Amino acid sequence: MNYKKLLVVVFCIFITPAFLLAEEGMWIPSLVKKINIDRMQELGFKLSAEDIYSVNKSSLKDGIVHFGGGCTAEVISGEGLILTNHHCGYSNIQRHSSVENDYLTDGVWAENKKAELPCKGLTATFIVRIEDVTEKVNSSLTANMTEPERKAAIDKVSASITAEATKDSHYKGQVKAYYYGNEFYLIVTETYRDVRLVGAPPSSIGKFGGDTDNWVWPRHTGDFSLFRIYANADNEPADYSKDNVPYKSKFSFPISIKGMQEGDFTMVYGFPGRTSEYLTSHGVDQIYSVTNPHAIAIRDERLKVMDAAMLESAKIRIQYASKQSRVSNAWKKWQGQNTGLARYDAINLKQQREADFTKWVNEDATRKKDYGSLLETFGDLYEKLEPHRLHRLYVNEGMYGIEAIRYANGFRKLHEMSVENPVNAEEVTKEIEKRKKAVAGYFKNYHQPIDKKIFRALIELSMEKMPQDLQPAIFEKINKKYSGNLDKYTEHVFNTSVFVDESRMNDFLDNYKTKKVYKLEQDPIYQLMASVLNHYHETSSTAYSETNGEIVKLYRTYMKALQEMSGEKKLYPDANSTLRVAFGKVEGYKARNAVQYEAFTTLEGIAEKYDPEHRDFKAPKRLIELYKAKDYGPYGVNGTLPVAFVSSNHTSGGNSGSPVINANGELIGLNFDRNWIGTMSDIVYDPSVCRNISVDIRYVLFIVDKFAGATHLIDEMKIVKD
Ligand code: ASP
Repeated sequence: MNYKKLLVVVFCIFITPAFLLAEEGMWIPSLVKKINIDRMQELGFKLSAEDIYSVNKSSLKDGIVHFGGGCTAEVISGEGLILTNHHCGYSNIQRHSSVENDYLTDGVWAENKKAELPCKGLTATFIVRIEDVTEKVNSSLTANMTEPERKAAIDKVSASITAEATKDSHYKGQVKAYYYGNEFYLIVTETYRDVRLVGAPPSSIGKFGGDTDNWVWPRHTGDFSLFRIYANADNEPADYSKDNVPYKSKFSFPISIKGMQEGDFTMVYGFPGRTSEYLTSHGVDQIYSVTNPHAIAIRDERLKVMDAAMLESAKIRIQYASKQSRVSNAWKKWQGQNTGLARYDAINLKQQREADFTKWVNEDATRKKDYGSLLETFGDLYEKLEPHRLHRLYVNEGMYGIEAIRYANGFRKLHEMSVENPVNAEEVTKEIEKRKKAVAGYFKNYHQPIDKKIFRALIELSMEKMPQDLQPAIFEKINKKYSGNLDKYTEHVFNTSVFVDESRMNDFLDNYKTKKVYKLEQDPIYQLMASVLNHYHETSSTAYSETNGEIVKLYRTYMKALQEMSGEKKLYPDANSTLRVAFGKVEGYKARNAVQYEAFTTLEGIAEKYDPEHRDFKAPKRLIELYKAKDYGPYGVNGTLPVAFVSSNHTSGGNSGSPVINANGELIGLNFDRNWIGTMSDIVYDPSVCRNISVDIRYVLFIVDKFAGATHLIDEMKIVKD
């Protein structure tokens, strides 16, 4: 090696990791002070750990909302205005939409607070405090407890910890397990129950790019919507009332329109849902070669039918908008995940890490005794799990992918009550009344021809792909009775079942008698649902939970060992829907050979993709006009308008709607997605390619202000210009 080459290598080893590599990890906010703040400040962060999380004074955490329990939102005004993704607000926008008032297509902007739309059931939860209760929990556990005993002891001690923490308050508490149950944290929360829809752009902005662009960079989606939290006169949570007033939060985010450069510090603060970063190679392999391919194939069938039908009429499109998005989102993500896992040779990478682990274990006799057989046992257990996991998948994704089957599942309680001895007539009447009330709501978003086609396709697929020795007997009976003619069987089911037709269902409930419970039992949808489910319970359910339980228990030991092996350097816990901090910086990436992606997109990209004939690439006329006139107001820069950017924050589902914050703690973007191969980051995070995608806050403000003319909302916000 010559001198110059040597210099390059030395440079790469010593300089690159500290300054150029992206950061991995989603960290517990209350531990940032201990673990991360130095590194964050090294990367440019100008605030303190106390500014991120504090129990004593207002901090950024007080502006972060767990939105509807699934997404994240942030407070952006002193009057309870919150910002989240369009796809997070989607089901509520859909619920308020009709063919006459098509908010999905046209967008919706409340003119004033009175016009804001109540969203039944939608909640906004704040984190009051996070406390490490590991010692308390561990003190109630002993080494020789069985798993059920351990669980009972944890439940008991958790109940007393939360009761103590929330007494004399309207707060709720929960003790959550981290690191596979090696650590425990108490989370105290405050949940607001009156949340109203304030504004959303048309889907041609909020969902621009549709399924084609989902999980893809470069991106041009204005994926945002606005809601407002309402409280009672004491600023406390209350059920919806017209007397409620806008909530005054302890903290609301200042919004920076100064913009950012590649390399600038970014932080994402939100509620990532679930990751599995410490899976062994066996676990990754099972996802890669078993669950993902089957789940994708099942959803392929559902989407084919839904997508075609949604083009038929506006009514069907609105009915299925939310359902289709839910199905297609994970479907596409799993494909990206598998592409990433293959390209970055994730199984091999895991195996290499396991080889390092084994080496470390073999260095010490105690380790050898405690951890020596871990990896081999993982291999055996995963092998044992596989058929049951597949069976489970075909029940959950396959059979429950049929709407009528899911609907019928809700009638199992009525069935149980009807066969009880003696029958509690009063309870049965109550249940019937409850069911009756829900009928119209259910069928409002049900289109029988869609479900019928999906039924036909998924029955065939399940018969073919469910492990043969784990198939329910009813499959064989159907095949015999209809001589393998599934079209005939489907006709019969849809001509007779009460679960696929509103008037049949109403008739059924109006005339329901427990003595005639056989009518329910003989309904072909109910019959199929009950047989498949009962059979699953008899064959796979216990085997699945037992084996999976053993695997989870093993991960607890493995995780403990990994932490020991890691020494001083603390590992981050997998996501578990609790509040986390992820930091990194604005940066593009090299996608593949000869392909380098830039970090920013602009409105020019929308003009390039614009295609009025393509479902995913329509754009509103007004947006095109503003583009032609280059009329961007204060949000434009150098003659263009920023739309989205990528950064290296480790995020996951549930981080949708999370604020992206600059070094000063100001809001610069709204996280909404990840890049295609980067979706493998739920399992393996590769800093060179895993990126989160955010909509630039200047694009959000431009749409609210210049496009929609909802300037009264801008007036509520604190905008930082320089
Ligand atoms: N777009 C994503 C979601 O819908 C967010 C993510 O997973 O990065 O879950």
